[in-house]
Amino acid sequence: MTIRYFDYASSCPAFPEALEEFTKASTELFGNPSSAHLPGNEAYNAMARMKQRFTELCHWKKAGMILTSGATEANNLVIRGVMEKYPKGRLLLVVDVHASAWFAREHYKRRVEVVPLQGDGRLSLARLRDSLKKNTVLFSAVHACNETGVVHDISAYGRLCQEREVLFHCDGAQALGHIEVDLENVPVNFYTFSSHKFGGPRGVGGVLTNTDKLAPQIIGGGQERQLRAGTENIPGLAAALKALESSHAVIAEESHRLQQLSGHFLRKLSEQAQTFTLNSRDEGLPGLVSISFPGTSGTNLVAEMSLRGFAVSAGSACHSNDLRPSRIILALGRSEQEALGTLRISMGRHTTQDDIEALSVTLAEVVRKQRLLA
Ligand code: PMP
Repeated sequence: MTIRYFDYASSCPAFPEALEEFTKASTELFGNPSSAHLPGNEAYNAMARMKQRFTELCHWKKAGMILTSGATEANNLVIRGVMEKYPKGRLLLVVDVHASAWFAREHYKRRVEVVPLQGDGRLSLARLRDSLKKNTVLFSAVHACNETGVVHDISAYGRLCQEREVLFHCDGAQALGHIEVDLENVPVNFYTFSSHKFGGPRGVGGVLTNTDKLAPQIIGGGQERQLRAGTENIPGLAAALKALESSHAVIAEESHRLQQLSGHFLRKLSEQAQTFTLNSRDEGLPGLVSISFPGTSGTNLVAEMSLRGFAVSAGSACHSNDLRPSRIILALGRSEQEALGTLRISMGRHTTQDDIEALSVTLAEVVRKQRLLA
């Protein structure tokens, strides 16, 4: 059965040219960058150049980069690293952060506060200002939310943090390669990413940062300025860099195309007379649509759609087995019923108009059937 894939936000196919770079770097830059011989030096210098180019593509030339195994590790490094470095400091989280930052609530309990969202999925700046307390050491927000596609005003958040001398962590896992990321004018201290979200390989990510105010979480050799031990994944970096270049080369036209496809999908779905609440917004991540169908179960919709050849998601891949309503959808003011009946459709490079037409017809059928049986 051919599968129509609508889960690009959880992972997407790699660019072939990125994989070529991976192979090339694996064979040509085989030296260990910590070794004091010529192949080691070559690998080290190439890594430094690639990191520099990567930060330039994010318009943050002055930043350094700590390579990690992805955004989960990068987010953990920032949060655990800062919380360990400042044992009396408090962490402020936005309610729509990814699980790899949300864990901190359970882990650090009373040292963590949470800022709610407005109904439009953004933060009230007045609320944020009030929540940044004297002992807040770190504020963590997503640039774009993986469940709703809402894009946050990170420049405004960053300015408030700068005024209050609070470190600002922004999780860019869903944003980088999908929307313009220009960090030159965003007072951010840590920007984290994961390469498979923009067509690079899995297991490669990092933290772009202008500070070393964090304690390492993986200890061993002194790699990455003593902040993350382990031999650096140079082929992964080479491939991630190529994938970012390739994404940037088509970002404007791809955004436009995906916005058109999302609009078309929603129009087609409405024509099938199924009532739904839209959680995503036109100005959010291009190609990400989050819809709630009260009276259905998101997990059952995903299973039924999968049997019919469609790969969709009930929220985020990390929570596909979680039957509780999403805290993020609830935070928009949706009811429990709506949150439980939520689907995330995320489109990408290979999505066609034909895929969209087929999706809208089948999804409407599946929703109708579930509502009849409910
Ligand atoms: N942050 C966000 C916003 C994400 O969407 C994801 C992936 N779902 C991550 C962090 C974690 O990325 P990875 O699984 O590649 O470590």
